[in-house]
Amino acid sequence: MSDVTHTATPWPAANSSAEVVVVGSGAGGAPTAALLAEAGLDVLVIEEGPWVAQGEVVPFSLDQMHRQYRSRGVTVALGKPSIAYTEGRCAGGGSEINSGLYWRPPASLLSRWRDEYDLATLDPDEVERILDEIEVALSVQLVPGAPTAPSEVLRRGAAALGWRHDEVPRWMTYPDGDDASRGRRQSMTETYLPRATQAGARIVTGARVDRITMRAGHANGVDVTTDDDARRHIACRHVVVCAGAIHTPALLQRSGIRRNVGASLAIHPTVKLAARFPETMNVPDDVPVHQVKEFAPLLSFGGSASHPGLVALSLADAWDRFGSRIVDWERMSVYYAAITPQGRGRVRALPGFADPLVTYRLTRRDQALLGRGLARLSLVMLEAGADEVYPSFRGASVVSSRSDVAEQQRQFSATRATVMSVHLCSTVPLGGTRSAQRGTDEWGAVPGVGNVTVNDASLLPDAPGVNPQATVMALAIRNTRHHLATDRFARSDA
Ligand SMILES: Cc1cc2nc3c(=O)[nH]c(=O)nc-3n(C[C@H](O)[C@H](O)[C@H](O)COP(=O)(O)OP(=O)(O)OC[C@H]3O[C@@H](n4cnc5c(N)ncnc54)[C@H](O)[C@@H]3O)c2cc1C
Repeated sequence: MSDVTHTATPWPAANSSAEVVVVGSGAGGAPTAALLAEAGLDVLVIEEGPWVAQGEVVPFSLDQMHRQYRSRGVTVALGKPSIAYTEGRCAGGGSEINSGLYWRPPASLLSRWRDEYDLATLDPDEVERILDEIEVALSVQLVPGAPTAPSEVLRRGAAALGWRHDEVPRWMTYPDGDDASRGRRQSMTETYLPRATQAGARIVTGARVDRITMRAGHANGVDVTTDDDARRHIACRHVVVCAGAIHTPALLQRSGIRRNVGASLAIHPTVKLAARFPETMNVPDDVPVHQVKEFAPLLSFGGSASHPGLVALSLADAWDRFGSRIVDWERMSVYYAAITPQGRGRVRALPGFADPLVTYRLTRRDQALLGRGLARLSLVMLEAGADEVYPSFRGASVVSSRSDVAEQQRQFSATRATVMSVHLCSTVPLGGTRSAQRGTDEWGAVPGVGNVTVNDASLLPDAPGVNPQATVMALAIRNTRHHLATDRFARSDA
């Protein structure tokens, strides 16, 4: 669905109002807005970034980073080591720029969350049914025809080692049949946002919600700054905050809501390497669909975007040794090892600054796990036929044999590595009354402020160990249905 109507800035009316304001239009906000509008509510979605339709920019390109990523992709969680993270900042949020790799949250994960976070109402069967719907809505499917050469590397290497590997389905349509290179990502601007507007929701882009305004312990509207620096106040009866795991807690804090908000950031840290093969294999505008899951959920291996600039970046940590190889970029691709860590981080809104301070601490165990992961990923590459492997940490040497892998693991130090993450969650976690970290109730409602709810990645109790978008969407749909069934949005005193 690409013939989308939406309302871009300037605003339809200087100072407007709505029954429900949804802040953010990503994987949490878009389905929330669609369901609320379809239930007949007057919904206004306020999105900080621009509307960029699928196909307008080349996927994984610098142009895309410029237009659709927050801070052009340069954002960092301070720590030892600091961790670079990326977020979407556009209509559709992360769903527009991500790899589209679809994982259902494992039933064992949902059961653990139910037990550890006192979430008695979290029903794995209900979540499964919602996931069935999501798969249809997003056209989740395997690649038609053969996966790309960089993807085949992961399959081949894992198979040679006897390690479990999967082709991960994606939210894609393939208008040209078997031509997998011409897939169209079924992001929120293609699916739930058009559904929302068709049901009457208004979407404004280029508008940042600065704070939720409160009166007598209740939200009565939001203050907004638009791209042209105009200030607006929008009166509303309910606010649903879906600004993502960094900006949801920051907005709540700026609005005076601080209890268990921002103190439990969870991520999937990754370390990278580039691998060179005898034949040309680089695919600049797509990512591999295979993942190696032998050691999941602790460790997972997959492939990253690999246009020449990103290949150069992955060689940059040991440029003195690796830099000369950049001429071979067409024979290279970039891969990652991701861990499910024990560490946690913090998000703190700073007075006078638009962006919050983000910090993150990897535990010793996490740091060691990153080193083990990178070594095992090197093995996968060698088994797949790589002639040279370039691990991304300062002081690394070229790896071209199994004995080099042992040396690589000995040399590795997380504090000298480029650690990154694209999966951020758990900053305002769901929890029952007995959960010590509870940022919201079991359905995303902020305790003590009846008409503010959260409905995005912030709610995940901890890092899921799989790509998170499906989990984010399923919880958002579950919560919205619950609030509609209990008439929360019909009541001004909810
Ligand atoms: C590069 C990358 C690759 C990824 N790959 C995958 C993958 O393959 N599979 C997978 O399952 N997951 C993947 N993810 C993660 C997935 O995209 C996220 O988990 C998901 O998008 C989170 O949804 P969300 O609604 O919490 O936040 P987002 O989707 O980030 O949406 C939040 C939105 O809120 C807006 N916003 C923020 N603050 C404000 C404000 N104050 N006012 C107004 N608007 C605001 C932002 O601009 C943004 O559009 C990837 C993420 C990235 C960045």
